[in-house]
Amino acid sequence: MMERIDTEVAIIGGGIIGASAALFLRRRGVPVTLLEAGLCGAKASGVNYGGVRRQGRPVAQMPLTRRAHELWGQLPALIGTDGEYVRSGHLKLARTEVDMAALESYRQATRGHGMHLRMLSRADLDRHYGWLGDEVIGGSFCPDDGHANPRLVSPAFARAALAAGAVLRESSPVTSALHDGRRFILRAGTALEVTSSFLLNCAGAWAGHFAAAFGEAVPETSIHPLMMVTEPLPLFMDVSLGMQGGGIYARQVARGNCVIGGGRGVSSDPDFARPGREAVQALLANAAALLRPLRGAHVIRFWSGVEGSMPDHNPVLGPSITTPGLFHAFGLSGAGFQVGPAIGEVLSQLVVDGHTNIPIDAFRIDRYAAPAHEAAGSGHTFREQTLEAS
Ligand SMILES: Cc1cc2nc3c(=O)[nH]c(=O)nc-3n(C[C@H](O)[C@H](O)[C@H](O)COP(=O)(O)OP(=O)(O)OC[C@H]3O[C@@H](n4cnc5c(N)ncnc54)[C@H](O)[C@@H]3O)c2cc1C
Repeated sequence: MMERIDTEVAIIGGGIIGASAALFLRRRGVPVTLLEAGLCGAKASGVNYGGVRRQGRPVAQMPLTRRAHELWGQLPALIGTDGEYVRSGHLKLARTEVDMAALESYRQATRGHGMHLRMLSRADLDRHYGWLGDEVIGGSFCPDDGHANPRLVSPAFARAALAAGAVLRESSPVTSALHDGRRFILRAGTALEVTSSFLLNCAGAWAGHFAAAFGEAVPETSIHPLMMVTEPLPLFMDVSLGMQGGGIYARQVARGNCVIGGGRGVSSDPDFARPGREAVQALLANAAALLRPLRGAHVIRFWSGVEGSMPDHNPVLGPSITTPGLFHAFGLSGAGFQVGPAIGEVLSQLVVDGHTNIPIDAFRIDRYAAPAHEAAGSGHTFREQTLEAS
């Protein structure tokens, strides 16, 4: 028999974004039902590198990432665990003078956003991080950025939402989503039907399908970052680090394992990705060159994941242009773990208050979905799509 649930807000996707939206909505007393195809926090949100960094984000994300930074500081109160979150500092390294200039101009462009970036010379690196390989000539340091364990943090957001009164349905892939002119109607096969006043599209790399179903096709693609973790090693690295221009990022956890990312996995199925031989070899070589203590260490696991990405590396976040009451939050482009909690809070504000103080205009869906926007006309104001106005 089909289960039927009528609620105020339905959410598709139980990653860190959907689960934190559910949590913040429950904290405002709003009835919420979250539908997750598999297990909450088991896709990108649970398999990522664990970088909790503001440094390196586009300037448009600064207010969002700053708010996320505050929320990460309250993690145990929010979700009942510290998630192994540490403010270790984030070191972004440069290989060339051109990289150094890029880091310096980023520092200037983001001044005033609370990151307190400090430029470091090679001599500074030698003083503080003598284990770095010869290829880097300097870097930029963000003292309060850090890292956390995604396998602990992301499912904990869903558990906290459940404890706060959200209805959670795992193993419930949404197979159809529509608005009948009155309510949203979601179906998970023949097992479950959810009707709601509002719908949050938080389906990660799969969210583009739902946007398209509401007339807002966007060029969301999937990317598959490659990851590996070593055996426990004597502690040497007390920062999370990345490289200007990309290629490799690394952190060491308290147990001694080094978590390292770089390059891409391979995928022949929209739902999964795995490490590929060539990228694995390149990552091993890059890691041994950059981090001297890793030479001769054993890697105990490689993995990858499926992440939604947008051409401009900014997410889609905000109201639908075609359908009042629908809000999108997806396409985090490899960087949604840190900002996830703030996006969840923003979604709750859009639904309950009708607005958010965080500037999100750069993330509007109609920067891509212009034809649907024109077809729909501009009849729906932002406020009309919110709980406050209903
Ligand atoms: C390997 C890797 C490394 C990364 N490293 C970092 C990092 O260091 N720092 C950082 O900030 N970000 C990082 N990211 C990005 C970050 O993990 C993501 O941006 C973030 O987790 C996205 O959260 P989400 O909730 O949108 O997506 P997801 O976690 O993918 O959640 C979406 C959920 O929607 C569900 N879903 C899909 N279709 C349906 C359906 N039809 N019905 C119901 N549910 C559905 C999925 O099962 C999934 O659980 C990384 C990503 C990967 C893959």
